Amino acid sequence: MSHLRDKKDVEYIRETSDKTLDLMSVYNVVPSPSNYQVWYDYTCEENMSLNKAIDDMIRKKKSFTSKVCNNLYERFFSSDQEQNAVAQAGQGIQSELTKIAKAVCEINKGTADYGKSLNESLHGMGDVPGSEELKTIISGLLTDSTDFTNKNNSAQIQLKESAKTVQKLQTTLETVRQESLTDMLTNIGNRKSFEENLNQAIKNATKKDNELCLIIGDIDHFKKFNDKWGHHVGDQVLKAVAHSMKTRVGEAGTTARYGGEEFVILLSGLSMDMAQNLTDTIRLSISGRSMKRKSTGESIGKITCSFGIAKFRPGEHRNDFLERADAALYRSKANGRNRITLEGDSSSNVVQVA
Ligand code: GH3
Ligand code: MG
Ligand code: MG
Repeated sequence: MSHLRDKKDVEYIRETSDKTLDLMSVYNVVPSPSNYQVWYDYTCEENMSLNKAIDDMIRKKKSFTSKVCNNLYERFFSSDQEQNAVAQAGQGIQSELTKIAKAVCEINKGTADYGKSLNESLHGMGDVPGSEELKTIISGLLTDSTDFTNKNNSAQIQLKESAKTVQKLQTTLETVRQESLTDMLTNIGNRKSFEENLNQAIKNATKKDNELCLIIGDIDHFKKFNDKWGHHVGDQVLKAVAHSMKTRVGEAGTTARYGGEEFVILLSGLSMDMAQNLTDTIRLSISGRSMKRKSTGESIGKITCSFGIAKFRPGEHRNDFLERADAALYRSKANGRNRITLEGDSSSNVVQVA
């Protein structure tokens, strides 16, 4: 686990690599580079959601066909890499343009100085006898340098236009980045945005000695709900639950869809008590709502959610933090659902029930 992760020595890499290949062989995974990347991370336990996804599949005895493996890779690796490559290219272009603009500016300055001194020479000559030929040469040079400056000026204008285009591209890139961090169905943050926010929140909590709470919420018996009402209605419920969470969390933290019917909320600077109160407001807003089918207005009953809350312990690994919140959620489920459990609560010490 975390102590292993810190060992960056060859021995550890070799061991992990052996374990990875063993696992791949056990589950009949083709040892392609992308599959190896997925399973190496799984072995390292670097990414809890990847481990969860694979563990779920193992539990459900799914076979790791090439389609399943490609999906895993797409979901957890490839889009990040593309995004990073595009972002790096954008930054590269921007910095090259800045360099060129600077160089043109320098040349223009040099040419202007040169033109100025030519002009001074020309006037300094006055009407010295026999200087006519020299004056003609200097006038020619002056015209050339003025032409050069004019051309450079138009190059500078073009460069400014290019800089504007790059700026627009950067904006587009930022929009694409935002989209890549948004869950398409619920329009709240997705797993990737959560991972980024979590890393940042942990850094801030460590640096500023801030309190940081993590809430994991999971819709109760959602499979049954889907079976009864169909996936489309299920999707509407996911949207409604996400909306309830996001509006109630507001500026107090970040809300994301962790995957499937699981949601995560990060609250920085709030005590456990405050986190618990806010979570209970969310829980009640969901369970108190009687859902209706959009198309027909038919009642589809009530939805409930279970929650687990953990508080960050300075110095701990993010996965340990996540695991504690997940374990608390598990206890909420085990104790009857539609409730909140704080980390470390024993089964009899459940916090809230509707
Ligand atoms: P529990 O109370 O223990 O959480 O039970 P559950 O049925 O909610 O949990 P389980 O993990 O067995 O099933 C999760 C279900 O969530 C299965 C799947 O159909 C549903 N689900 C996951 N993602 C989506 C989605 O995007 N749309 C819809 N409609 N359903 C989804
Ligand atoms: Mg569920
Ligand atoms: Mg679940």
